[in-house]
Amino acid sequence: TETLPQLPIFEALSSHNPRSTAIVHSESGDKFTYGSLLSDTAKLRRKLLEKAKVDDLQEQRIAFLVENGYNYVVSLLGIFAAGGIAVPLHPSHPSKELHYVAKNSAPTFILTTPNSKAHQVFPPSSSSPPILNFAEHPPNKPHDVPLQVDFSPALDPLRGALMIYTSGTTAAPKGVVSTHKNLTTQATTLVTAWEMDKDDHLLHVLPLHHVHGIVNATLAPLFAGGTVEYLFPFNAQNVWSRFVDTSRKPISLFMAVPTIYSRLIDSYETLPEPTRSAGKKNVSNLRLAISGSAALPASTKQKWESLGGNLLERYGMTEIGMALSQRLPLTDRMANSVGWPLPGVEARLLSDGLEVTEVGQEGEIQIRGDNVFREYWQKEEATKKEFTEDGWFKTGDVAVRDERGAYYIKGRASVDIIKSGGEKISALEVERELLELLQIAEAVVVGLEDRNWGQRVAAVLVLTPQGKSEEFDLVKMRGEMKNRVAGYKVPREIKILEAIPRNQMGKVNKKELVKKVFSGDK
Ligand code: ATP
Ligand code: MG
Repeated sequence: TETLPQLPIFEALSSHNPRSTAIVHSESGDKFTYGSLLSDTAKLRRKLLEKAKVDDLQEQRIAFLVENGYNYVVSLLGIFAAGGIAVPLHPSHPSKELHYVAKNSAPTFILTTPNSKAHQVFPPSSSSPPILNFAEHPPNKPHDVPLQVDFSPALDPLRGALMIYTSGTTAAPKGVVSTHKNLTTQATTLVTAWEMDKDDHLLHVLPLHHVHGIVNATLAPLFAGGTVEYLFPFNAQNVWSRFVDTSRKPISLFMAVPTIYSRLIDSYETLPEPTRSAGKKNVSNLRLAISGSAALPASTKQKWESLGGNLLERYGMTEIGMALSQRLPLTDRMANSVGWPLPGVEARLLSDGLEVTEVGQEGEIQIRGDNVFREYWQKEEATKKEFTEDGWFKTGDVAVRDERGAYYIKGRASVDIIKSGGEKISALEVERELLELLQIAEAVVVGLEDRNWGQRVAAVLVLTPQGKSEEFDLVKMRGEMKNRVAGYKVPREIKILEAIPRNQMGKVNKKELVKKVFSGDK
């Protein structure tokens, strides 16, 4: 028999039918049961403890570089079980970031599998952490009987469990340390709010070094006893093929970033019949599709919904997991709103040190609850600075509320709130309006330094095929925008690109983009 510590995640996993499918590899169709997930996790726990020569890792960091799928989940859970802090490295991370994370987190090992990219990225040397291989697990045959797993006494729920680096959109990525209590809260809150259960079958297309892919799309469905099917890297055609494959279990749950939804919509237009009608039928049969990590353009939401599906938007961060979400049942369309505080999450808006009570008034979103992380790794000062004296986490994001208390994100205070001639302009709001124009496919609005106005509004655009064929007319565009927003919000400067550089989560580093696109401008 193997041993696992008492932790809510293991208690949840062992309460599910050991023969039901926890994980599927989409490409091969290989399936892995909850029983094997628990026993392989326990085996890896033993291996980690043996290698580290301790009986509890006591928050030693273990980095792991494993592809999406069963081995990834076993690694994550195995590190939890051994009492370490799991530090996800991901094959889709650029090498430079892999090195940064591997150095910054000072891991005891880099855990990986025999044929992984880790062996090239971290060749044996005195400066890289040692690599620990664990065997690839063959898929379980249905008759496999899971190993007996015993529970040992509980790990302290305040023990650090996971360290995810922020996306680095506004500064160098920071290691965010979350405890077991944080993760359990973050995941079970979503199970409740999004009504996940054992019948859910989630198609997972996200990288696994962010909260979105790890907590929302992996831990939450596993807490609920559902199935997570990994299809990675994302490819729109493969997703459509899977949606319409009637020989396999239908997908009930889908989570993605806005850029993935828009690529699926574009690809839908090119599908041949009968895949097209079957695809539409499948979208309408999804129990729930969810978008987040960046603002969802109303046009993307509307196009997805015109395929018969629903699309729920939520808001979260590495530091807090998910905090705001539209509610089920999705009875109205609520474009541009990220909904209400999730159960157990407290949220408020602060403006000049005072709590905002008025509808439509802007304030910084602040969050409190068991979902909120413990600390930035080795950044005590930075951690302190992000909390108010009474313990609220300052997100740095600005929002307003409507009369029903639903939140609307205006953007990051540091880059999205443009101050021009004494007026405050939300870049996100201007982006949303630009995207309503038929000529514009993508829009990023920024503030440029301006001697007279403090800042002036500028936009970087990608045109639609229609926009390209019409010979984009700046004067006409500005005229159309003036009908939509106040004159001072209309971009004065425009740059048109073939594509906007985004990271895998669909996020744009605006400071870098400004440097690249507008440098040299006065
Ligand atoms: P860094 O903190 O390193 O600059 P980051 O903030 O992009 O990077 P993440 O924690 O991955 O790193 O992203 C959280 C941010 O993503 C939020 O602070 C918010 O600005 C943005 N975000 C998340 N969901 C939404 C949403 N639905 N609408 C608009 N913005 C969102
Ligand atoms: Mg951030």
